[in-house]
Amino acid sequence: MDVYALIGNPVGHSLSPPMHEAGYEALGIDARYVTFEPAPENVGAAIEGAQALGVAGLNVTIPFKQDVLDHVDADELASRIGAVNTVDFSGERPTGHNTDAEGVRRAFDRYDVDLEGATAVVVGAGGAGRAAAFALSDAGADVRIANRTEAHAHDLAADVPGASGHGLEGLDDLLADATVLVNATSVGMEESATPVPADALHGDLAVLDAVYRPLETTLLSDAADAGATTIDGAWMLLYQGVAAFERWTGEDAPVDAMNAALRDEL
Ligand code: NAP
Repeated sequence: MDVYALIGNPVGHSLSPPMHEAGYEALGIDARYVTFEPAPENVGAAIEGAQALGVAGLNVTIPFKQDVLDHVDADELASRIGAVNTVDFSGERPTGHNTDAEGVRRAFDRYDVDLEGATAVVVGAGGAGRAAAFALSDAGADVRIANRTEAHAHDLAADVPGASGHGLEGLDDLLADATVLVNATSVGMEESATPVPADALHGDLAVLDAVYRPLETTLLSDAADAGATTIDGAWMLLYQGVAAFERWTGEDAPVDAMNAALRDEL
């Protein structure tokens, strides 16, 4: 039996075990997916130990996505983003990858949203914001980053080719000619809170909310009212998992089974 694992803190409510295990079951793969909460000073030892024990693949979540960079050979995208969420042990040295960016790109693909040449606004400049900004820029979008702490938006924009950084007060103007919007802040987890005023939304937008608890955020319901395409945070979560699953197993992931398991939990 293969064992896959997630390290982070907390991981108690992680949706990854049921999502991945539904994938193994659908393909007849004999595997389990388990979670661990190592102490921060033990992250390197946890990765070495996982490799020594023959763990087939490791996901990494908050707060260890940056720390892990010191203990793996990160690929080019993970190095640019500055965060690893997927570790592959198939080579001599563990390699580090970032499938959050792929999660963003494939969530838009799922809804046939063309990112090439799009004008995209990312609200938020933390971990999810970084992944979204790189994903959109790599897909050919012109990226505008807006963040509560404007300096964080400028810092991120400096790393992303062609991106610009802004505060939240000019969101109306930033969105007026945009076709893509990603909420990469935690605003929306509390009922009725929204990071974007409803009157800044319009029908030409495709809106991805990274927040997945709740699935139906105020932002997404305002966006639907404005006639926009709405993409909930479970799609991003699903496709980052699908990308890790495919890297580890070499198989096409059973997306429908994994999606159903994920949505059952939400
Ligand atoms: P993070 O690194 O802590 O960043 C948080 C971001 O939210 C920062 O830009 C922060 O702005 C902003 N923010 C926090 N409170 C705010 C408020 N009251 N008003 C305006 N902005 C506020 O967190 P993260 O890892 O990027 O996660 C952000 C959200 O994305 C969370 O809800 C998380 O669950 C979700 N997420 C979803 C997925 C998925 O697969 N769907 C993946 C990753 C994350 P400042 O810079 O001003 O502090």
